[in-house]
Amino acid sequence: MQDISIENPPRLTFKNLSRVEGLVHGVFTRHGGVSATPYESLNVAWNNGDSPEAVGENLARVKNSTGAEWLVTSRQLHGDLVNFIDEQTAQKLEARPPTLVSPPGDALATNLSGLGLLIKIADCQSILLVDPQSRIIANIHSGWRGSVLDIAGKTVRRLERFGLNPATTLAAVSPSLGPCCAEFVNYKREIPEKFWPFRVGPLHFDFWAITRSQLTAAGLGEQNIEFAAKCTVCGKSDFFSYRGEGTTGRMASIIGWKRP
Ligand SMILES: [Zn+2]
Repeated sequence: MQDISIENPPRLTFKNLSRVEGLVHGVFTRHGGVSATPYESLNVAWNNGDSPEAVGENLARVKNSTGAEWLVTSRQLHGDLVNFIDEQTAQKLEARPPTLVSPPGDALATNLSGLGLLIKIADCQSILLVDPQSRIIANIHSGWRGSVLDIAGKTVRRLERFGLNPATTLAAVSPSLGPCCAEFVNYKREIPEKFWPFRVGPLHFDFWAITRSQLTAAGLGEQNIEFAAKCTVCGKSDFFSYRGEGTTGRMASIIGWKRP
């Protein structure tokens, strides 16, 4: 992963995705927006109590800095639904400028140019995918419930029907809940036994390793998966963290094709 950029608003980018011509991507931090405490400052979620005007301005800053014509967003459910946006479905999305609102779900995918697929996170992973050959991109929201549901692997397999080739697909995983802070005191009740080998202490889990194993099981090369490897709970000064703060904002993670 590269360092946080000095542009405003700042964002993190990944080395593997930066090499793909025509692709824009980034995980924004909590800096560079207009929201007040406890959402300071680049909160992009409408539904957590922040002022709608502030969220609209924050989204506009994210959109302008990525050059996307529209940001595509959806209500995230901690489920495993994938929304593929093609010419036809794009026409039906509800416009809430500067966003187009997709039906509820936790993965957005497209092969269209000009759309910035937006996932909102505060400890959950945003998993960015790009297959440069088929030009299919995706942005996946995966918290611990998404990990248990294997939304990462399911999204890859679902997108194979649209032409994605796992062998040529690159993946990048945002800052998120790290093994240092992923303590699950009720894990025997909450987390199925097949994930217990990913424990890194009596009560701690390595969800980054779970994502790596789910993506490689779906056919991605391990060398094509890049991790920010930054924990949002430990990094509250730069990132929103639900576990670390309770009421807080959500960060924007974006992937999209520039218009040729
Ligand atoms: Zn941590």
